[in-house]
Amino acid sequence: MNQPAPDPSNPALPDQGRSSLSPFPPRPQQLRLQLSEEQERDFGRYHLHAMLLRMRWALGVAMALFLLFALLDAISLPEEVRNPVLGLRLGLILPVLTVAWLSTFPARLQPCMQWIGGAAALVCGLGVVGIIWFARIHAYPLPYEGILLVTFYFYFLTGLRFVPAALCGWVTFVVYLGMELQTGLPAIALLYNAFFLGTANIIGSVGCYFLEHAMRQNFLAQLQLQELAERDFLTGLLNRRAFSARAENIWRQALRERHSLGVAMMDVDYFKRYNDHYGHAAGDETLKKVAHIIGSHARRPLDITARYGGEEFVGLWYHLSEEDLQAIMERIRAGIAALNLPHVTSEAGDRVSISIGVAYLCPQPHQGLEDALRLADVALYLAKEQGRNRVVCKRPGDDTASAG
Ligand code: GH3
Ligand code: MG
Ligand code: MG
Repeated sequence: MNQPAPDPSNPALPDQGRSSLSPFPPRPQQLRLQLSEEQERDFGRYHLHAMLLRMRWALGVAMALFLLFALLDAISLPEEVRNPVLGLRLGLILPVLTVAWLSTFPARLQPCMQWIGGAAALVCGLGVVGIIWFARIHAYPLPYEGILLVTFYFYFLTGLRFVPAALCGWVTFVVYLGMELQTGLPAIALLYNAFFLGTANIIGSVGCYFLEHAMRQNFLAQLQLQELAERDFLTGLLNRRAFSARAENIWRQALRERHSLGVAMMDVDYFKRYNDHYGHAAGDETLKKVAHIIGSHARRPLDITARYGGEEFVGLWYHLSEEDLQAIMERIRAGIAALNLPHVTSEAGDRVSISIGVAYLCPQPHQGLEDALRLADVALYLAKEQGRNRVVCKRPGDDTASAG
């Protein structure tokens, strides 16, 4: 077997990850800002998906605004200020914004958009500081409020996350203060400007933090909903619908990569009699234990197990030898026998047991997952016929079946 990784596609082994529906929005402590490493990666993709278009628009609008301001500068500024200011606007800020805007299109650059957008925002902030600096050294009274506009813009409109937005905001703030100190702005004016820009950064940081927090909550709520939609309520395994969807993808991957698959149908023996004798509630408990054993044998990323319906389970194991597949099936069968759950009305022994039919195949273009399931069902029928509590394996075109 050659994919020893844990199984994120089967994250909730029985009894784990099962959640109940609540009519109330999740509380912050239920949906913490801190996510696991894997969830953090998923959140990055979720955020990008939600924000990419906004970022593209924000960058486009920022380019248009800088052009408009360049027009204003061209009309109103004296020549000695106009040239360096236009140089900064058109020679630095606009090209950087254009590059960032273009970066939103190629798929391979999109995952880096927080960094690219952050760098562009920083260049805008520092560029505006530079513009004010040129005005100051030529004693031209250019309003400093441009920095306030830029600050609010990248906190709230660019789709930047809290950390890059706050970094841009506060770095721009510090560089602005340094510039004003260097050019000798009167102390009282400096104090007021620092106060306003500092307050803008505090408002921006807090607002941006809350926005990201709300987005993380939405993301986790969606994960929870997806979990509820995909899991069987009783056993915590995948339900049949989720199994079919995932198994179809895995089937296609196996077809592409010419890898083998094991598809198993598993059915608890004489379970109707078990319910009749021990009661439905005891039957439910037994199904949970059986499901736990089955689920614990599918831990690699492309191995999945599900409750197919009633006391029937289904599983798919990716790219392994027939011997390894049979060994896993046998371990499942033996694991359920080892639960040692009394079943006095069973004709297959006096303990709860399971019959397993498994199809081992390398997917071919003319086949589908349904064919594999049908073959596994035939093998299961044979297992039942041969006395239950056993594994029967079939390959396509097999007339004989190997039983264990
Ligand atoms: P076989 O060995 O041939 O599989 O016989 P069987 O009795 O297991 O098969 P049959 O299909 O006749 O009965 C399946 C039983 O599974 C019937 C039903 O009472 C029981 N069952 C199905 N779903 C549940 C469930 O969610 N909880 C409980 N407790 N029992 C269930
Ligand atoms: Mg049964
Ligand atoms: Mg059945």
